Amino acid sequence: MCTKLLLLAAICRLLVIVGVSTGPKLQTHVELTFNHTDILSVSQDFGNMISILPAAVFHPSSTLEVSKLIKLAYESQQGFTVSARGHGHSINGQAQVDNGIVVQMSGSHGKLPVPVVNEELMYVDVWGGELWIDVLKWTLKYGLAPKSWTDYLYLSVGGTISNAGISGQAFNHGPQISNVHEIDVVTGKGEILTCDEDKNSELFHAVMGGLGQFGIVTRARIALEHSPHRVRWIRVLYSNFSGFIHDQEYLISLHGQPNSKKFDYVEGFVIVDEGLTNNWRSSFFSPNNPIKISSVASGGNVLYCLEIAKNYYHHSDLESINKEVEALLKKLNYIEATEFTTDLPYMDFLNRVHKAELKLRSKGLWHVPHPWLNLFVPKSRIEDFNKGVFKGILGNNTSGPILIYPMNKNKWDDETSVVTPDEDVFYLVAFLRSALHNGENVATLERLKDENRQVLNFCQEQNIGVKQYLPHYTTQQEWMDHFGEKWHQFYKRKMEFDPKHILATGQRIFEPSFNSMIRSW
Ligand code: FAD
Repeated sequence: MCTKLLLLAAICRLLVIVGVSTGPKLQTHVELTFNHTDILSVSQDFGNMISILPAAVFHPSSTLEVSKLIKLAYESQQGFTVSARGHGHSINGQAQVDNGIVVQMSGSHGKLPVPVVNEELMYVDVWGGELWIDVLKWTLKYGLAPKSWTDYLYLSVGGTISNAGISGQAFNHGPQISNVHEIDVVTGKGEILTCDEDKNSELFHAVMGGLGQFGIVTRARIALEHSPHRVRWIRVLYSNFSGFIHDQEYLISLHGQPNSKKFDYVEGFVIVDEGLTNNWRSSFFSPNNPIKISSVASGGNVLYCLEIAKNYYHHSDLESINKEVEALLKKLNYIEATEFTTDLPYMDFLNRVHKAELKLRSKGLWHVPHPWLNLFVPKSRIEDFNKGVFKGILGNNTSGPILIYPMNKNKWDDETSVVTPDEDVFYLVAFLRSALHNGENVATLERLKDENRQVLNFCQEQNIGVKQYLPHYTTQQEWMDHFGEKWHQFYKRKMEFDPKHILATGQRIFEPSFNSMIRSW
């Protein structure tokens, strides 16, 4: 009841702001939805921990429509806030907006522009709300595919390039933002600008990893390569952390090799006392053949799994692929007899997490709180991190996958808004944990949140120099610390492209109380 009243008040306010007297149709013919179900659906996200109600939802079908809406927000005296929402797979309400308008970029509404592939120049132009799974399906019709991925493909193009977009290909191709040639952006003033490395380059770089702060991406031009047909996917185990990271770092150092004697994908994960099959990201180790950690771990209860993959194009390549994989594996020092290999179509490999998603959904375990924490850890301190966190704070129950893999900093463009540690190589450590029940020995939300805090405190006390990926902060000082030397540039770009702070307020970077403080700063 209270929610309904609040909503009604918000709608009235909005209608007054945009000068509408006869219903939910703006003067400029931008149609909003005030439907309660629609509003509820955009007030949630994958994190399942925060829910904020907008006043209305907007389903655009063109860049021009997005521009009209933002112009109204910018030019009207009282103003209103606007947040683009891709697939709502944020953790902490980053795409939500309090009493403003959510621009629902993904979905099958209206007549959205379809992807356009340029086979000669090897790129695809896609709508900003397009999901990566659909980009892949579309480009595969031409025998082409994007080069850099996320582990999970039901994320929107605009959503991942607002962060970076990383997976096991990033060491070689860089994050997804290093593979975008051009974008159309509607700024916080409602202007439509096409930008790339040279044209409107300040905005281009601001938007890449810019947490939605500078504009709404309505079109992205994404680099393509000839699509591999199949993938040899291998997992091997280590009980020794030094050996594990030595091999990961060796494998990513091969990125510059012109004759391509390297794996195409390098990731890894930590296994703490739970057996090898308890990893929802993919059922790879057969449950019929469980390996007990105690049978392979030499002291301690932590194992490390290196996950590597080699793409190939034709069955006729098999012999040379076998030789190449064998030669590469010989250089690694994993525990003998812990090699798990499978071979599958490229599409199935890229879409591997979806299979796990369907399984979790069928058990009712997908829509649970996800207090995820993603950190970039500098290479020079990853051993300290292992001792303090994997072997210390976590105890013997991880409550979900913990990914760990290194990337090469020279594949990241420092002009973008993303912040990474100041070292040539840094690791992603991703705690992808779920809060399931309140029972004994299972993860409660509070326990996991508390462990996240302990991890962050440990990093701060030990001066590890981590940077959060998909960052979430609650204080002004934390955001400034996060951006460090880049803060000044980030703030300047905000004042240029979204001076009224209309966009993506769910990131909580430019809170009202904060604004007065930074103006005097
Ligand atoms: P939303 O949650 O809808 O939006 C995120 C932010 O981007 C918001 O601030 C929003 O305002 C802004 N935004 C959205 N669309 C646009 C647009 N068109 N223009 C401007 N701003 C926009 N990330 C990785 O890098 N690698 C992974 O392997 C990976 N795996 C994941 C697996 C799962 C199951 C989940 C839930 C998340 C994963 N992520 C991964 C994180 C993911 O990339 C981010 O959460 C991303 O923001 C989600 O995209 P979305 O479309 O759902 O964005």
